Amino acid sequence: MIIVLKPGTKKEEYNHIIKCVKEYGFKPHPIIGEERTVIACVGDDRGKAQLQQLDSLEYVESVMPILKPFKLASKETKPRSVVKVGGVEIGNSQFVVMAGPCSVETREQILLSAEQVKKAGAHILRGGAFKPRTSPYSFQGLEEEGLKLLAEAREKTGMPFVTEVISPGDVKLIEEYSDMFQIGARNMQNFALLKEVGKSAKPVLLKRGMSCTYKELLMSAEYIMSQGNYNVVLCERGIRTFEDYTRNTFDLAAVPALKELSHLPVVVDPSHGTGVRSLIPPMAKAAIPAGADGLIIEVHPNPEKAFSDGAQSLTPEQFTKLMNDLQRYAPLENKHL
Ligand code: PEP
Ligand code: MN
Repeated sequence: MIIVLKPGTKKEEYNHIIKCVKEYGFKPHPIIGEERTVIACVGDDRGKAQLQQLDSLEYVESVMPILKPFKLASKETKPRSVVKVGGVEIGNSQFVVMAGPCSVETREQILLSAEQVKKAGAHILRGGAFKPRTSPYSFQGLEEEGLKLLAEAREKTGMPFVTEVISPGDVKLIEEYSDMFQIGARNMQNFALLKEVGKSAKPVLLKRGMSCTYKELLMSAEYIMSQGNYNVVLCERGIRTFEDYTRNTFDLAAVPALKELSHLPVVVDPSHGTGVRSLIPPMAKAAIPAGADGLIIEVHPNPEKAFSDGAQSLTPEQFTKLMNDLQRYAPLENKHL
């Protein structure tokens, strides 16, 4: 249920509502907007009738049911949200570009990557320190050493960084270093992990599972938000289909669809979405008219030598060219880089 308060509601009145909501067995999630305060109440439906009665208070404008199962992520509760990562806002007029290598490999590699993507105009650095690899014999990441190197790259460039967390036990450690958690496709429905990052205040980049529906993605966002962390950014990264020319089938329709269903910002990952270097720039550009708030893209100083995902990593030169093209495309959708 959503309780909409009238503009100018007093603090005592607000506190009274919160107290009632808790008494009726619901968890209140206040959403303080510019004009109005809305309280999303989530819980079991038995106290619904009592909640409905709050309608009669003079400072309550309305009490309405939230129809979608993803209550807090639903557009019914809020028109739009902006998620802050360091000093960068995702979901506003800036088209945010997160770029860097698939994995953090060496000090030289990550520092050089950070410098190169920064120079080309990227806003957030990406790099995996804990890697979810298909084979246990593949490079698994530098772990804490990788986090330290990412922090050093942030220090040098001023760019915040996003890095993947693959286990609930690592959340605290990664939280100490990083500016944003990444939940990868393979972990989109790792509910223990979702709950754990939900207890943090750090933003979360939630990637769509390779065989998951939009609704399932939003239910996973709901897991995080239900714990109190509303700073979720959704990411389309391609799904499994019968097509085998590309690594995945990049589902660009996910962007406007998720925007219709949810207030959360949506970004795309054309690197994993296609897995083919030549297809990444056109898909990255197409994300702008599709309505995306940004993108995450793999760039490596020397893709041939990459420890992971070399075939889908852009060279710094290709990335620089793409950034120049995006600069020209963004104003068509009232965005800027
Ligand atoms: C990654 O970003 O390197 C990654 C592993 O992505 P995904 O979870 O989308 O496969
Ligand atoms: Mn990768």
